[in-house]
Amino acid sequence: MGQERGSISINTENIFPIIKKWLYSEKDIFIRELVSNASDAVNKMKKLEAMGEAQLPEDNKYEIKVIVNKNEKTIKVLDNGLGMTDEEVKKYINQIAFSGAVDFIEKYKDKSDDGQIIGHFGLGFYSAFMVSERVQIDTLSYQNGAKAVKWVSDGGTEFEMSDSDKTDRGTLITLYLSDDSLEFVDEYKMRQTLEKYFAFLPIELYLEDAAKEPEKAEEKPAEDKSGEEAVPAAPKPLNDTAPLWLKNPRDCTEEEYKQFYTKVFHDFNEPLFWIHLNMDYPFNLKGILYFPKLKHEFETMEGQIKLYYNQVFVADNIKEVIPEFLMLLKGVLDCPDLPLNVSRSFLQNDGYVNKISSHITKKVADKLTSIFENERENYDKYWDDINPFVKYGCIREEKFYDRVKDIIIYKSTKGGYVTLNQYLENNKEKHENKVFYVSDENQQAQYVKLFNENDMEAVILSTMIDNHFMSLIESKVSGVHFNRIDADISDSMKQENTGIAEEDVSYLETLFKETVNDEKLKVQVESLKNDTIPAVVLLSEQSRRMQEMSRMYGGGMDMS
Ligand code: ADP
Ligand code: MG
Repeated sequence: MGQERGSISINTENIFPIIKKWLYSEKDIFIRELVSNASDAVNKMKKLEAMGEAQLPEDNKYEIKVIVNKNEKTIKVLDNGLGMTDEEVKKYINQIAFSGAVDFIEKYKDKSDDGQIIGHFGLGFYSAFMVSERVQIDTLSYQNGAKAVKWVSDGGTEFEMSDSDKTDRGTLITLYLSDDSLEFVDEYKMRQTLEKYFAFLPIELYLEDAAKEPEKAEEKPAEDKSGEEAVPAAPKPLNDTAPLWLKNPRDCTEEEYKQFYTKVFHDFNEPLFWIHLNMDYPFNLKGILYFPKLKHEFETMEGQIKLYYNQVFVADNIKEVIPEFLMLLKGVLDCPDLPLNVSRSFLQNDGYVNKISSHITKKVADKLTSIFENERENYDKYWDDINPFVKYGCIREEKFYDRVKDIIIYKSTKGGYVTLNQYLENNKEKHENKVFYVSDENQQAQYVKLFNENDMEAVILSTMIDNHFMSLIESKVSGVHFNRIDADISDSMKQENTGIAEEDVSYLETLFKETVNDEKLKVQVESLKNDTIPAVVLLSEQSRRMQEMSRMYGGGMDMS
Protein backbone atom coordinates (compact mmCIF):
# COMPACT_ATOMS: atom_id res chain seq x y z
CA MET A 1 0.00 0.00 0.00
CA GLY A 2 1.32 3.44 -0.94
CA GLN A 3 1.76 6.22 1.53
CA GLU A 4 -1.29 8.26 2.29
CA ARG A 5 -1.69 11.44 4.29
CA GLY A 6 -4.71 13.33 5.45
CA SER A 7 -6.27 15.18 8.31
CA ILE A 8 -8.43 13.58 10.88
CA SER A 9 -11.99 14.82 10.88
CA ILE A 10 -14.03 15.34 13.96
CA ASN A 11 -17.68 14.51 14.12
CA THR A 12 -19.21 17.42 15.98
CA GLU A 13 -22.25 15.39 17.02
CA ASN A 14 -19.96 13.23 19.07
CA ILE A 15 -17.50 15.78 20.32
CA PHE A 16 -20.11 18.24 21.46
CA PRO A 17 -21.46 16.39 24.44
CA ILE A 18 -17.89 16.11 25.65
CA ILE A 19 -17.29 19.83 25.45
CA LYS A 20 -20.63 20.58 27.00
CA LYS A 21 -20.58 18.16 29.88
CA TRP A 22 -17.06 17.22 30.72
CA LEU A 23 -14.70 19.93 29.71
CA TYR A 24 -15.80 22.26 32.43
CA SER A 25 -16.50 21.15 35.93
CA GLU A 26 -18.76 24.03 36.84
CA LYS A 27 -21.68 25.38 34.92
CA ASP A 28 -21.00 29.03 35.64
CA ILE A 29 -17.84 28.76 33.56
CA PHE A 30 -19.83 29.84 30.50
CA ILE A 31 -20.06 33.37 31.83
CA ARG A 32 -16.34 33.41 32.56
CA GLU A 33 -15.68 32.41 28.95
CA LEU A 34 -18.08 34.83 27.29
CA VAL A 35 -17.04 37.85 29.32
CA SER A 36 -13.38 36.87 28.83
CA ASN A 37 -14.00 36.90 25.07
CA ALA A 38 -15.65 40.31 25.38
CA SER A 39 -12.65 41.53 27.35
CA ASP A 40 -10.26 40.13 24.74
CA ALA A 41 -12.28 41.85 22.00
CA VAL A 42 -11.98 45.19 23.80
CA ASN A 43 -8.30 44.72 24.53
CA LYS A 44 -7.60 43.90 20.91
CA MET A 45 -9.52 47.01 19.84
CA LYS A 46 -7.48 49.10 22.29
CA LYS A 47 -4.27 47.72 20.87
CA LEU A 48 -5.34 48.36 17.29
CA GLU A 49 -6.24 51.89 18.24
CA ALA A 50 -2.93 52.40 20.01
CA MET A 51 -1.05 51.10 16.99
CA GLY A 52 -2.93 53.50 14.74
CA GLU A 53 -4.67 50.69 12.87
CA ALA A 54 -8.09 52.08 13.68
CA GLN A 55 -9.64 55.48 14.39
CA LEU A 56 -12.42 55.61 16.93
CA PRO A 57 -14.76 58.44 17.88
CA GLU A 58 -13.53 60.80 20.62
CA ASP A 59 -16.21 59.84 23.08
CA ASN A 60 -15.56 56.13 22.70
CA LYS A 61 -15.70 54.46 26.10
CA TYR A 62 -14.94 50.77 26.31
CA GLU A 63 -17.29 48.66 28.32
CA ILE A 64 -18.88 45.26 28.67
CA LYS A 65 -22.48 44.74 29.65
CA VAL A 66 -24.27 41.65 30.85
CA ILE A 67 -28.04 41.88 30.60
CA VAL A 68 -30.29 39.31 32.21
CA ASN A 69 -33.95 39.05 31.35
CA LYS A 70 -36.21 36.73 33.32
CA ASN A 71 -39.17 37.28 31.04
CA GLU A 72 -37.34 36.37 27.87
CA LYS A 73 -35.16 33.80 29.65
CA THR A 74 -32.12 35.34 28.02
CA ILE A 75 -28.65 36.45 28.99
CA LYS A 76 -26.88 38.93 26.75
CA VAL A 77 -23.21 39.74 26.74
CA LEU A 78 -22.45 42.95 24.92
CA ASP A 79 -19.05 44.45 24.17
CA ASN A 80 -17.76 47.30 22.05
CA GLY A 81 -14.56 45.55 21.12
CA LEU A 82 -13.30 44.90 17.62
CA GLY A 83 -16.27 42.80 16.43
CA MET A 84 -16.03 40.15 13.72
CA THR A 85 -16.45 40.19 9.95
CA ASP A 86 -18.33 37.31 8.39
CA GLU A 87 -15.00 35.68 7.44
CA GLU A 88 -13.90 35.88 11.04
CA VAL A 89 -17.11 34.32 12.28
CA LYS A 90 -16.58 31.50 9.83
CA LYS A 91 -13.00 31.07 10.88
CA TYR A 92 -13.17 31.49 14.63
CA ILE A 93 -16.69 30.46 15.54
CA ASN A 94 -17.53 27.81 12.99
CA GLN A 95 -14.29 26.01 13.55
CA ILE A 96 -13.96 24.53 16.97
CA ALA A 97 -10.60 24.82 18.67
CA PHE A 98 -9.49 27.65 16.44
CA SER A 99 -8.50 30.65 18.46
CA GLY A 100 -8.62 34.21 17.21
CA ALA A 101 -6.70 35.17 20.30
CA VAL A 102 -3.70 33.14 19.26
CA ASP A 103 -3.99 34.50 15.70
CA PHE A 104 -4.08 38.04 16.97
CA ILE A 105 -1.07 37.66 19.22
CA GLU A 106 0.82 36.02 16.39
CA LYS A 107 -0.08 38.75 13.91
CA TYR A 108 0.85 41.69 16.11
CA LYS A 109 3.54 40.12 18.21
CA ASP A 110 6.23 42.50 16.98
CA LYS A 111 4.20 45.60 17.59
CA SER A 112 2.68 44.89 20.95
CA ASP A 113 2.96 42.59 23.90
CA ASP A 114 0.30 39.95 24.37
CA GLY A 115 -0.60 41.34 27.78
CA GLN A 116 -4.11 40.75 29.04
CA ILE A 117 -5.38 38.52 26.25
CA ILE A 118 -7.14 35.63 27.93
CA GLY A 119 -8.26 33.34 25.11
CA HIS A 120 -6.08 30.54 23.95
CA PHE A 121 -7.74 27.28 23.06
CA GLY A 122 -10.60 28.32 20.84
CA LEU A 123 -13.10 26.33 22.88
CA GLY A 124 -14.47 28.80 25.39
CA PHE A 125 -17.28 30.14 23.24
CA TYR A 126 -18.89 26.72 23.04
CA SER A 127 -19.36 26.61 26.78
CA ALA A 128 -22.39 28.83 26.01
CA PHE A 129 -24.17 25.63 25.02
CA MET A 130 -23.76 24.26 28.52
CA VAL A 131 -26.69 26.47 29.52
CA SER A 132 -28.44 27.44 26.29
CA GLU A 133 -30.69 25.78 23.77
CA ARG A 134 -29.97 28.52 21.28
CA VAL A 135 -27.11 30.96 20.93
CA GLN A 136 -27.11 34.02 18.74
CA ILE A 137 -24.23 36.27 17.78
CA ASP A 138 -24.73 39.75 16.36
CA THR A 139 -21.47 41.38 15.47
CA LEU A 140 -20.09 44.35 13.58
CA SER A 141 -16.41 44.61 12.89
CA TYR A 142 -14.49 47.85 13.37
CA GLN A 143 -13.13 47.50 9.83
CA ASN A 144 -14.21 50.05 7.25
CA GLY A 145 -17.18 48.89 5.23
CA ALA A 146 -17.79 45.83 7.36
CA LYS A 147 -21.31 44.43 7.36
CA ALA A 148 -22.99 43.24 10.53
CA VAL A 149 -23.35 39.48 10.79
CA LYS A 150 -25.88 37.32 12.61
CA TRP A 151 -25.03 33.76 13.54
CA VAL A 152 -27.57 31.45 15.16
CA SER A 153 -27.23 27.90 16.33
CA ASP A 154 -29.55 25.54 18.17
CA GLY A 155 -27.46 23.10 20.10
CA GLY A 156 -24.19 24.00 18.45
CA THR A 157 -23.65 21.53 15.68
CA GLU A 158 -25.41 23.44 12.93
CA PHE A 159 -25.59 27.15 12.34
CA GLU A 160 -27.24 29.76 10.18
CA MET A 161 -25.58 32.98 9.16
CA SER A 162 -27.35 36.07 7.81
CA ASP A 163 -27.26 39.86 7.92
CA SER A 164 -27.66 41.45 11.30
CA ASP A 165 -29.23 44.79 12.12
CA LYS A 166 -26.48 45.65 14.60
CA THR A 167 -25.36 49.21 13.96
CA ASP A 168 -22.59 49.83 16.44
CA ARG A 169 -19.17 48.24 16.59
CA GLY A 170 -18.77 45.17 18.75
CA THR A 171 -20.42 41.87 19.56
CA LEU A 172 -23.65 40.88 21.22
CA ILE A 173 -24.04 37.29 22.31
CA THR A 174 -27.59 36.24 23.21
CA LEU A 175 -28.16 33.03 25.13
CA TYR A 176 -31.63 31.51 25.13
CA LEU A 177 -31.36 29.52 28.32
CA SER A 178 -32.41 25.93 28.58
CA ASP A 179 -34.90 25.18 31.34
CA ASP A 180 -32.36 23.55 33.63
CA SER A 181 -30.18 26.68 33.65
CA LEU A 182 -32.65 29.39 34.48
CA GLU A 183 -30.92 30.19 37.76
CA PHE A 184 -28.48 32.40 35.85
CA VAL A 185 -31.18 34.76 34.73
CA ASP A 186 -31.56 35.84 38.33
CA GLU A 187 -29.81 39.18 38.80
CA TYR A 188 -28.45 38.28 42.20
CA LYS A 189 -27.01 34.99 41.04
CA MET A 190 -25.45 36.68 38.02
CA ARG A 191 -23.95 39.45 40.11
CA GLN A 192 -22.38 36.89 42.41
CA THR A 193 -20.95 34.98 39.48
CA LEU A 194 -19.58 38.09 37.80
CA GLU A 195 -18.05 39.30 41.04
CA LYS A 196 -16.39 35.96 41.56
CA TYR A 197 -14.60 35.95 38.22
CA PHE A 198 -14.38 39.59 37.23
CA ALA A 199 -13.97 41.72 40.34
CA PHE A 200 -10.69 42.91 38.78
CA LEU A 201 -11.35 42.73 35.05
CA PRO A 202 -9.43 45.45 33.18
CA ILE A 203 -12.53 46.62 31.27
CA GLU A 204 -15.50 48.20 33.00
CA LEU A 205 -18.24 45.65 33.47
CA TYR A 206 -21.92 46.40 34.07
CA LEU A 207 -24.88 44.23 34.94
CA GLU A 208 -28.41 45.12 33.93
CA ASP A 209 -31.66 43.42 34.74
CA ALA A 210 -33.85 44.06 31.73
CA ALA A 211 -36.87 42.54 33.43
CA LYS A 212 -36.61 45.13 36.20
CA GLU A 213 -36.01 48.24 34.13
CA PRO A 214 -39.50 49.84 33.97
CA GLU A 215 -39.87 49.70 37.74
CA LYS A 216 -36.73 51.80 38.16
CA ALA A 217 -37.96 54.46 35.76
CA GLU A 218 -41.06 55.00 37.92
CA GLU A 219 -39.06 55.37 41.09
CA LYS A 220 -36.85 58.18 39.88
CA PRO A 221 -39.23 61.20 39.94
CA ALA A 222 -40.49 60.35 43.43
CA GLU A 223 -36.97 60.64 44.80
CA ASP A 224 -36.56 64.07 43.34
CA LYS A 225 -37.70 66.22 46.24
CA SER A 226 -35.72 69.38 45.54
CA GLY A 227 -37.58 70.10 42.36
CA GLU A 228 -34.32 70.31 40.44
CA GLU A 229 -33.74 68.28 37.36
CA ALA A 230 -32.91 64.78 38.64
CA VAL A 231 -29.56 63.65 37.37
CA PRO A 232 -29.52 59.85 37.40
CA ALA A 233 -26.36 58.68 39.09
CA ALA A 234 -23.96 57.17 36.58
CA PRO A 235 -24.10 53.40 37.00
CA LYS A 236 -21.03 52.02 38.68
CA PRO A 237 -19.07 49.18 37.15
CA LEU A 238 -18.99 46.12 39.34
CA ASN A 239 -15.25 45.68 38.93
CA ASP A 240 -12.07 47.44 39.94
CA THR A 241 -10.21 47.77 36.65
CA ALA A 242 -6.85 48.58 38.25
CA PRO A 243 -6.26 46.16 41.10
CA LEU A 244 -3.66 47.03 43.67
CA TRP A 245 -1.42 44.09 42.83
CA LEU A 246 -0.67 45.60 39.42
CA LYS A 247 0.50 48.91 40.86
CA ASN A 248 4.12 49.55 41.58
CA PRO A 249 4.71 48.67 45.24
CA ARG A 250 6.36 52.06 45.67
CA ASP A 251 3.08 53.79 44.85
CA CYS A 252 0.91 51.77 47.24
CA THR A 253 0.04 53.06 50.67
CA GLU A 254 -0.43 51.05 53.83
CA GLU A 255 -4.06 52.13 53.85
CA GLU A 256 -4.57 50.76 50.34
CA TYR A 257 -3.10 47.40 51.24
CA LYS A 258 -5.38 47.12 54.26
CA GLN A 259 -8.48 48.19 52.36
CA PHE A 260 -7.75 45.75 49.59
CA TYR A 261 -7.38 42.98 52.15
CA THR A 262 -10.70 43.71 53.80
CA LYS A 263 -12.47 43.96 50.48
CA VAL A 264 -11.12 40.76 49.00
CA PHE A 265 -11.14 38.52 52.07
CA HIS A 266 -13.98 40.05 54.07
CA ASP A 267 -11.68 39.88 57.06
CA PHE A 268 -12.03 42.91 59.30
CA ASN A 269 -8.97 42.08 61.36
CA GLU A 270 -6.03 43.99 60.04
CA PRO A 271 -3.38 41.82 58.46
CA LEU A 272 -0.03 41.79 60.23
CA PHE A 273 2.07 42.56 57.18
CA TRP A 274 2.21 41.67 53.51
CA ILE A 275 4.45 40.91 50.61
CA HIS A 276 3.89 42.54 47.25
CA LEU A 277 5.16 40.30 44.46
CA ASN A 278 5.98 42.27 41.37
CA MET A 279 8.03 40.43 38.87
CA ASP A 280 8.26 40.59 35.08
CA TYR A 281 11.26 38.48 34.40
CA PRO A 282 11.94 35.55 33.91
CA PHE A 283 8.23 35.09 34.36
CA ASN A 284 5.35 37.40 34.98
CA LEU A 285 4.09 37.14 38.52
CA LYS A 286 2.15 39.78 40.39
CA GLY A 287 0.32 39.51 43.63
CA ILE A 288 0.01 40.35 47.29
CA LEU A 289 0.38 37.86 50.12
CA TYR A 290 -0.97 38.80 53.52
CA PHE A 291 -0.07 37.35 56.90
CA PRO A 292 -3.40 37.29 58.71
CA LYS A 293 -3.88 37.91 62.37
CA LEU A 294 -5.24 34.89 64.18
CA LYS A 295 -8.55 35.60 65.84
CA HIS A 296 -7.96 33.55 68.93
CA GLU A 297 -4.97 31.95 70.47
CA PHE A 298 -5.40 28.34 69.48
CA GLU A 299 -6.82 28.96 66.07
CA THR A 300 -5.00 27.29 63.28
CA MET A 301 -4.40 29.43 60.27
CA GLU A 302 -6.84 29.08 57.48
CA GLY A 303 -5.78 30.95 54.42
CA GLN A 304 -7.01 31.55 50.96
CA ILE A 305 -4.93 32.15 47.89
CA LYS A 306 -6.87 33.40 44.92
CA LEU A 307 -5.30 32.74 41.58
CA TYR A 308 -5.92 35.09 38.67
CA TYR A 309 -5.00 34.85 35.04
CA ASN A 310 -4.76 38.29 33.45
CA GLN A 311 -7.08 39.70 36.09
CA VAL A 312 -9.67 36.96 35.63
CA PHE A 313 -10.24 34.71 38.62
CA VAL A 314 -9.26 31.08 38.06
CA ALA A 315 -9.71 29.33 41.40
CA ASP A 316 -8.89 29.36 45.08
CA ASN A 317 -6.04 27.41 46.60
CA ILE A 318 -4.80 25.57 43.54
CA LYS A 319 -2.47 22.96 44.94
CA GLU A 320 -0.54 22.64 41.71
CA VAL A 321 0.60 26.26 41.72
CA ILE A 322 0.97 27.28 45.28
CA PRO A 323 3.21 25.56 47.78
CA GLU A 324 0.89 23.97 50.29
CA PHE A 325 2.19 25.87 53.30
CA LEU A 326 1.51 29.19 51.62
CA MET A 327 -2.15 28.38 51.57
CA LEU A 328 -2.16 29.32 55.24
CA LEU A 329 -1.75 32.91 54.08
CA LYS A 330 -4.32 35.07 52.36
CA GLY A 331 -3.53 36.57 49.04
CA VAL A 332 -3.96 37.08 45.35
CA LEU A 333 -1.63 35.87 42.64
CA ASP A 334 -1.85 36.86 39.01
CA CYS A 335 0.30 34.82 36.77
CA PRO A 336 -0.37 35.11 33.04
CA ASP A 337 2.52 32.78 32.27
CA LEU A 338 0.88 29.80 33.89
CA PRO A 339 0.32 26.98 31.46
CA LEU A 340 -3.30 26.42 32.42
CA ASN A 341 -5.11 23.66 30.61
CA VAL A 342 -8.29 24.03 28.62
CA SER A 343 -10.61 24.13 31.56
CA ARG A 344 -8.18 26.58 33.16
CA SER A 345 -8.45 25.02 36.58
CA PHE A 346 -5.48 22.74 36.19
CA LEU A 347 -1.99 22.97 34.89
CA GLN A 348 -0.61 21.38 31.83
CA ASN A 349 2.84 20.85 33.22
CA ASP A 350 4.76 21.95 36.23
CA GLY A 351 7.96 23.38 34.81
CA TYR A 352 6.94 26.92 35.66
CA VAL A 353 5.22 25.90 38.79
CA ASN A 354 8.36 24.82 40.56
CA LYS A 355 10.01 28.07 39.62
CA ILE A 356 7.07 30.12 40.73
CA SER A 357 6.70 28.37 44.00
CA SER A 358 10.37 28.60 44.84
CA HIS A 359 10.33 32.27 43.97
CA ILE A 360 7.42 32.85 46.31
CA THR A 361 9.06 30.78 49.03
CA LYS A 362 12.18 32.89 48.75
CA LYS A 363 10.23 36.15 48.89
CA VAL A 364 8.40 35.05 52.00
CA ALA A 365 11.61 33.99 53.72
CA ASP A 366 13.30 37.28 52.72
CA LYS A 367 10.45 39.30 54.14
CA LEU A 368 10.54 37.42 57.44
CA THR A 369 14.31 37.83 57.63
CA SER A 370 14.09 41.53 56.97
CA ILE A 371 11.56 42.00 59.76
CA PHE A 372 13.69 39.87 62.08
CA GLU A 373 16.78 41.93 61.32
CA ASN A 374 15.32 45.40 61.09
CA GLU A 375 12.21 45.38 63.25
CA ARG A 376 12.93 42.78 65.88
CA GLU A 377 10.31 44.19 68.23
CA ASN A 378 7.59 43.73 65.64
CA TYR A 379 8.88 40.31 64.77
CA ASP A 380 8.46 39.21 68.39
CA LYS A 381 5.00 40.73 68.40
CA TYR A 382 3.96 38.88 65.25
CA TRP A 383 5.46 35.58 66.27
CA ASP A 384 2.45 34.17 68.10
CA ASP A 385 0.39 34.70 64.96
CA ILE A 386 2.91 33.62 62.38
CA ASN A 387 4.65 30.74 64.10
CA PRO A 388 2.23 28.01 62.92
CA PHE A 389 2.85 29.20 59.38
CA VAL A 390 6.64 29.29 59.70
CA LYS A 391 6.75 25.89 61.39
CA TYR A 392 4.43 24.27 58.91
CA GLY A 393 6.53 25.75 56.11
CA CYS A 394 9.68 24.29 57.64
CA ILE A 395 8.07 20.87 57.89
CA ARG A 396 6.75 20.91 54.32
CA GLU A 397 9.62 22.58 52.48
CA GLU A 398 13.21 21.92 53.21
CA LYS A 399 14.26 24.98 51.23
CA PHE A 400 12.08 27.15 53.37
CA TYR A 401 13.53 25.66 56.54
CA ASP A 402 17.04 26.37 55.30
CA ARG A 403 16.16 29.98 54.67
CA VAL A 404 14.45 30.68 57.99
CA LYS A 405 16.17 28.33 60.41
CA ASP A 406 18.09 31.11 62.13
CA ILE A 407 15.11 33.36 62.60
CA ILE A 408 12.84 30.86 64.33
CA ILE A 409 12.26 32.10 67.82
CA TYR A 410 10.87 30.61 71.00
CA LYS A 411 8.87 32.30 73.70
CA SER A 412 10.81 32.00 76.94
CA THR A 413 9.43 31.47 80.45
CA LYS A 414 11.90 34.16 81.47
CA GLY A 415 10.05 36.64 79.24
CA GLY A 416 10.81 37.65 75.67
CA TYR A 417 11.83 35.45 72.78
CA VAL A 418 15.03 33.56 72.08
CA THR A 419 16.47 31.71 69.13
CA LEU A 420 17.49 28.10 69.60
CA ASN A 421 21.15 29.07 69.66
CA GLN A 422 20.56 31.74 72.26
CA TYR A 423 18.66 29.28 74.42
CA LEU A 424 21.36 26.66 74.20
CA GLU A 425 24.05 29.22 74.91
CA ASN A 426 22.17 30.68 77.91
CA ASN A 427 21.66 27.29 79.51
CA LYS A 428 24.69 25.27 78.49
CA GLU A 429 26.08 25.19 82.02
CA LYS A 430 22.93 23.67 83.41
CA HIS A 431 21.81 21.31 80.68
CA GLU A 432 23.73 20.96 77.49
CA ASN A 433 21.71 20.46 74.26
CA LYS A 434 18.51 19.93 76.18
CA VAL A 435 15.57 22.25 75.55
CA PHE A 436 12.87 22.32 78.21
CA TYR A 437 9.46 23.30 76.97
CA VAL A 438 5.97 23.95 78.23
CA SER A 439 3.07 22.66 76.15
CA ASP A 440 0.28 23.98 78.33
CA GLU A 441 0.96 26.91 80.59
CA ASN A 442 -2.00 26.23 82.88
CA GLN A 443 -1.54 22.53 83.23
CA GLN A 444 2.19 22.88 83.84
CA ALA A 445 2.01 25.99 86.00
CA GLN A 446 3.59 24.28 89.02
CA TYR A 447 6.56 23.21 87.01
CA VAL A 448 6.98 26.63 85.50
CA LYS A 449 6.98 28.04 89.02
CA LEU A 450 9.59 25.52 90.04
CA PHE A 451 11.69 26.50 87.04
CA ASN A 452 11.39 30.19 87.79
CA GLU A 453 12.38 29.72 91.39
CA ASN A 454 15.48 27.82 90.33
CA ASP A 455 16.42 30.37 87.64
CA MET A 456 15.86 27.78 84.93
CA GLU A 457 14.56 28.57 81.47
CA ALA A 458 11.96 26.76 79.37
CA VAL A 459 10.31 27.72 76.09
CA ILE A 460 6.64 27.64 75.25
CA LEU A 461 5.62 25.30 72.46
CA SER A 462 1.89 25.05 72.70
CA THR A 463 0.47 24.92 69.19
CA MET A 464 -0.79 21.78 67.51
CA ILE A 465 2.08 21.73 65.10
CA ASP A 466 4.80 21.83 67.77
CA ASN A 467 5.10 18.07 68.25
CA HIS A 468 6.03 17.69 64.60
CA PHE A 469 8.13 20.78 64.68
CA MET A 470 10.23 19.54 67.60
CA SER A 471 10.86 16.28 65.81
CA LEU A 472 12.00 18.26 62.79
CA ILE A 473 14.45 20.35 64.82
CA GLU A 474 15.74 17.21 66.58
CA SER A 475 16.42 15.68 63.18
CA LYS A 476 18.08 18.82 61.81
CA VAL A 477 20.17 20.07 64.71
CA SER A 478 22.32 17.25 65.89
CA GLY A 479 22.36 16.51 69.58
CA VAL A 480 19.46 18.75 70.48
CA HIS A 481 16.47 17.22 72.13
CA PHE A 482 13.30 18.63 73.57
CA ASN A 483 12.05 17.69 77.01
CA ARG A 484 8.76 18.73 78.40
CA ILE A 485 9.15 20.63 81.61
CA ASP A 486 7.53 17.80 83.59
CA ALA A 487 9.67 15.07 82.05
CA ASP A 488 12.78 15.50 84.03
CA ILE A 489 14.10 17.44 86.99
CA SER A 490 17.62 18.70 86.63
CA ASP A 491 20.14 18.02 89.38
CA SER A 492 20.48 21.69 90.08
CA MET A 493 16.92 21.70 91.37
CA LYS A 494 17.43 18.82 93.78
CA GLN A 495 18.82 18.89 97.27
CA GLU A 496 22.00 16.95 97.63
CA ASN A 497 20.89 15.54 100.91
CA THR A 498 17.21 14.68 100.90
CA GLY A 499 16.87 15.03 104.63
CA ILE A 500 14.20 12.35 104.62
CA ALA A 501 14.36 9.70 107.31
CA GLU A 502 15.17 6.09 106.31
CA GLU A 503 11.82 4.83 107.52
CA ASP A 504 9.89 7.41 105.51
CA VAL A 505 11.77 6.36 102.40
CA SER A 506 10.98 2.68 102.91
CA TYR A 507 7.39 3.52 103.72
CA LEU A 508 7.09 5.34 100.39
CA GLU A 509 8.78 2.44 98.58
CA THR A 510 6.29 -0.07 99.93
CA LEU A 511 3.39 2.22 99.25
CA PHE A 512 4.31 2.63 95.58
CA LYS A 513 5.08 -1.06 95.08
CA GLU A 514 1.74 -2.07 96.51
CA THR A 515 -0.19 0.55 94.58
CA VAL A 516 1.16 -0.45 91.19
CA ASN A 517 1.34 -4.08 92.28
CA ASP A 518 4.92 -4.57 91.17
CA GLU A 519 7.46 -5.93 93.63
CA LYS A 520 10.35 -4.99 91.32
CA LEU A 521 9.40 -1.34 90.91
CA LYS A 522 12.41 0.87 91.39
CA VAL A 523 11.60 3.68 93.75
CA GLN A 524 13.95 6.56 94.19
CA VAL A 525 13.18 9.31 96.61
CA GLU A 526 14.56 12.73 95.93
CA SER A 527 13.93 16.10 97.40
CA LEU A 528 13.54 19.46 95.73
CA LYS A 529 15.40 22.48 96.94
CA ASN A 530 12.17 24.28 96.73
CA ASP A 531 9.73 23.80 99.57
CA THR A 532 6.59 25.45 98.27
CA ILE A 533 5.79 22.50 96.00
CA PRO A 534 4.89 19.29 97.86
CA ALA A 535 5.58 16.79 95.08
CA VAL A 536 5.96 16.53 91.30
CA VAL A 537 4.95 13.78 88.92
CA LEU A 538 7.35 13.10 86.06
CA LEU A 539 6.78 11.23 82.85
CA SER A 540 9.64 10.69 80.48
CA GLU A 541 9.53 12.62 77.23
CA GLN A 542 9.66 9.42 75.25
CA SER A 543 6.70 7.81 77.03
CA ARG A 544 4.72 10.98 76.76
CA ARG A 545 5.25 11.34 73.00
CA MET A 546 4.31 7.68 72.58
CA GLN A 547 1.13 8.27 74.55
CA GLU A 548 0.25 11.33 72.51
CA MET A 549 0.83 9.52 69.30
CA SER A 550 -1.37 6.64 70.27
CA ARG A 551 -4.05 9.11 71.31
CA MET A 552 -3.76 10.79 67.93
CA TYR A 553 -4.19 7.53 66.10
CA GLY A 554 -7.28 6.64 68.06
CA GLY A 555 -5.87 4.49 70.87
CA GLY A 556 -4.50 1.57 68.92
CA MET A 557 -1.00 2.31 67.82
CA ASP A 558 -0.43 1.63 64.21
CA MET A 559 3.18 2.05 63.27
CA SER A 560 2.76 0.87 59.72
P1 ADP B 1 -10.45 31.62 22.57
O1 ADP B 1 -11.01 32.76 23.32
O2 ADP B 1 -9.70 30.66 23.42
O3 ADP B 1 -9.68 32.07 21.36
P2 ADP B 1 -13.20 31.02 22.06
O4 ADP B 1 -13.91 29.77 21.64
O5 ADP B 1 -13.61 31.60 23.37
O6 ADP B 1 -11.66 30.75 22.02
O7 ADP B 1 -13.42 32.08 20.94
C1 ADP B 1 -12.97 31.79 19.64
C2 ADP B 1 -12.68 33.04 18.87
O8 ADP B 1 -13.88 33.71 18.52
C3 ADP B 1 -11.91 34.08 19.64
O9 ADP B 1 -10.53 33.82 19.63
C4 ADP B 1 -12.24 35.36 18.88
O10 ADP B 1 -11.45 35.47 17.72
C5 ADP B 1 -13.67 35.10 18.46
N1 ADP B 1 -14.58 35.75 19.40
C6 ADP B 1 -15.29 35.16 20.38
N2 ADP B 1 -16.02 36.07 21.08
C7 ADP B 1 -15.76 37.28 20.51
C8 ADP B 1 -16.19 38.63 20.77
N3 ADP B 1 -17.04 38.92 21.77
N4 ADP B 1 -15.70 39.62 19.97
C9 ADP B 1 -14.85 39.33 18.97
N5 ADP B 1 -14.40 38.10 18.68
C10 ADP B 1 -14.84 37.07 19.43
MG1 MG C 1 -12.37 32.60 24.81
